[in-house]
Amino acid sequence: AAKEQGPNNYRFFRKDMKTKFTQRVAIEQQLRHAIDNDELTLVYQPKFDACTCELVGMEALLRWHNEELGSISPQTFIPVVEESRQIIEIGHWVLHKAAEQMKKWQDAGLGAVSMAVNISAVQLHHEQFIPSIHEILQTYQLEPKWLELEMTESIEINRSSMLEKLRTLNRMGVRLAVDDFGTGYSSISYLQKFPINSLKIDKSFVQRISGPHSDHSLIEAIIAMGRSLKLEVIAEGVETEEQLAYLKSHGCHQVQGYLFAAPLTAGEFEAIYVKGAKLNNMA
Ligand code: C2E
Ligand code: MG
Ligand code: MG
Ligand code: MG
Repeated sequence: AAKEQGPNNYRFFRKDMKTKFTQRVAIEQQLRHAIDNDELTLVYQPKFDACTCELVGMEALLRWHNEELGSISPQTFIPVVEESRQIIEIGHWVLHKAAEQMKKWQDAGLGAVSMAVNISAVQLHHEQFIPSIHEILQTYQLEPKWLELEMTESIEINRSSMLEKLRTLNRMGVRLAVDDFGTGYSSISYLQKFPINSLKIDKSFVQRISGPHSDHSLIEAIIAMGRSLKLEVIAEGVETEEQLAYLKSHGCHQVQGYLFAAPLTAGEFEAIYVKGAKLNNMA
């Protein structure tokens, strides 16, 4: 079986499956028990102020390890669970876990740092989404301003029912970010109309800052547009000093990427950032 293949089991799985359909069915079936079997975990990738390099936030990213299928990337399994609607339950688990962790770290002295959670359009469309956000903030006694929801442009931000939901979240004090900005197909006029706090520039634009096929034109325009709309502009996927220097000099507010830190396990994050926050508070 695939589980005997060790670190190669993911490749084995890909090769062995006849069609994408079979792969989807396997993912769907295995994910049904993933929460009960403790197969899901969150890792946390820090976000920094581009000028001071201070920690300003973190993003929770989902990881799944299954005995049969091995470790599967969210890029592979999220689209499957969006279609099967299992994302409702899994997304709910992610929000709870991230909020619970955030509360623990705040109690340990983390300080003014926010927690971002990725939200799929299917979750946002669900009628229980806003009540579940209320419930989570209540359960963990979290101030809404420390929770940020990252949504991609696929959210059909132009629909009027969506506008109403985002306005409600905004009134509650939860922060809203557009993720992977620049890769979607929405009209940019929604940026003005919607109660959005920040723009995350997709890493494909960041990667084009330097190198043989460098092209600054789009990223420069995105940063300028975000700033003029008074949005917080965040660059994801920052990997080189050259990219950082460019982003800083063009007024990008926050940066995230392997140059600073990869997504970290809760233990790793705590060892690096939470203990430090405690010491700073005592000084
Ligand atoms: P995203 O939200 O745009 O997250 C950024 C992705 O880039 C993450 O991949 C992260 O590990 C990766 N990354 C971070 N720094 C760098 C870098 O310097 N260079 C490069 N090349 N990559 C970097 P990951 O964790 O595999 O997640 C992929 C996508 O899956 C996420 O993209 C997000 O759309 C989705 N996702 C992850 N967790 C969740 C979740 O809990 N719920 C939902 N709905 N989607 C999730
Ligand atoms: Mg994200
Ligand atoms: Mg992104
Ligand atoms: Mg992305």
